[in-house]
Amino acid sequence: MTESKIGIVGGGQLAGLLAQEVNRLGGQLFSLDPDPQCPAVLMGAEHVEGDRHSAKDIQKLASLVDVITIDLEDVNVEALADLSAEGFSVVPDPKTLQLMTNKLHQKEVFQAHNLPTSPFTPYDGSTSEGLDSQGWPAVQKAAEGGYDGRGVAIIEGPADAGNRLPAPGFVEAFVPGAIELSVMVARDALGHTKTWATTEMEFDDRGNLLAYLIAPARIPEETSDKARDLATRAIEAFHGVGIFGVELFLTQSGELLINEIAPRTHNSGHYTIDACATSQFRQQYNILTGKAMEDTRQNSPAVMFNLLGDIDYEGDTVVEGLDVLLETIGVHPYLYGKQSCFPLRKMGHVTVVADTAEAAQALGDKAKTQITIRGDKRITS
Ligand code: ADP
Repeated sequence: MTESKIGIVGGGQLAGLLAQEVNRLGGQLFSLDPDPQCPAVLMGAEHVEGDRHSAKDIQKLASLVDVITIDLEDVNVEALADLSAEGFSVVPDPKTLQLMTNKLHQKEVFQAHNLPTSPFTPYDGSTSEGLDSQGWPAVQKAAEGGYDGRGVAIIEGPADAGNRLPAPGFVEAFVPGAIELSVMVARDALGHTKTWATTEMEFDDRGNLLAYLIAPARIPEETSDKARDLATRAIEAFHGVGIFGVELFLTQSGELLINEIAPRTHNSGHYTIDACATSQFRQQYNILTGKAMEDTRQNSPAVMFNLLGDIDYEGDTVVEGLDVLLETIGVHPYLYGKQSCFPLRKMGHVTVVADTAEAAQALGDKAKTQITIRGDKRITS
C-alpha cells in the first residue's frame, strides 16, 4: 500500500486532530499555514509555509500531496476550483464550497430544496432600511467571513440599528428559546451517507463558543431521527462530499429548522473520537483516501466541553489540574499545544464518556471545575 499524502489548507486544531489520525494510520498530513508553530504542526502535521488565501501557496501544497481538504472556510476557494478543474482531487468539491462558504447561498439552497430554515430576506447592511424585514429582534448575518458568532448581530429594536454589521448578507426571523442541535454528516464520492447521533449544544454567551456538548441530545428519538434525515438531505442538496457539521434549531413548538452548515469537521463532532465506533477524523481520512466509510454508532453517552482560556489571564500557557483528569476513568482531555493563551482562546477540549447520560454529565460537570487553562500573567486593567 502506498502511503497516503493529504494536504489541508489551514493549520488549526481540526487539522491537528486529523494529523493525529493520519499519523496513526501511517499516512502524512501536510498543513498550509504561515506559522511553523500552528496547532496542526504542534499536533503532528508536516508544515508547508504559506497563506491559505494565496493561489501560489495552495499550488505548492498540491504539488506535495494526492488530495486536498480544508481546516476552515476562509480559504481561497477559486484556487481550489482551479486545481479541481485540472483534475486534482479536492474534498469537499470547490463547487460545494463556493455555495457553503456564503451563508446567504446556504439559505437559498435550503429554500430551493424545501429544507426548513428560519425565514430570511437578503439585506446589505448599508442603511437600517430593511433591517426589520423579518421583525424585531432582527437577526442579521454577514454572508461571508463570520464564524463563532462574529458574523451575527442580534438587534433588539430600531434604537439599536446602529449596532448592525456593515456587511452584506441577510436578516432572518429570531427563533426564541430554541434547543441548538448538531448532526455530523459524512458523504463519500459514491454518494453514500452516514450520520452520527444528533447532539445538543450549549453556548458560552461571552464568546459565542460551544461551551458544552451533550451526545446524544436529550430529545425524543423520533425528533433526533428527523434531524439526521434533514441534515442528510441538506448535504445531498449541495452534492457535498466530505464531513459536514449541520447546525439546527429545535423550536419551542417542536419544529426543526436548519441554521447553517460547516463544510468540514466540527467542534460538535470531537466527542466521536472517544464515544463512537468511528470518529469524524477517521471518516474524513476514509473519504479523502477513497476507502469505504465505517460505522458511526455511538458506544456510550458522552459530554464534551471546550477548554477556553481563563478570562483574567494572558501570556504563556499554564495548565492546572490536567493530572486529575488524566487519572479519571472516562475523562479524555485534548490539548492543542497553543503556546500562548488569552481570554476565551480555544485551547483544547475534554470528552467524558460513561455508562449513562446522567453519569457522563455529572463527571463532565466535575471535570470542568478541575482543570484551568490560562496565560501566566493576570490582566490588570
Ligand atoms: P456562527 O457561524 O457564527 O456560529 P450562527 O448562525 O450559528 O453563527 O449563529 C451564532 C449563534 O447566534 C447561534 O448559535 C444562536 O445562538 C444565535 N442565533 C443565530 N441565529 C438565530 C436566530 N434566528 N434566532 C435566535 N438566535 C439565533
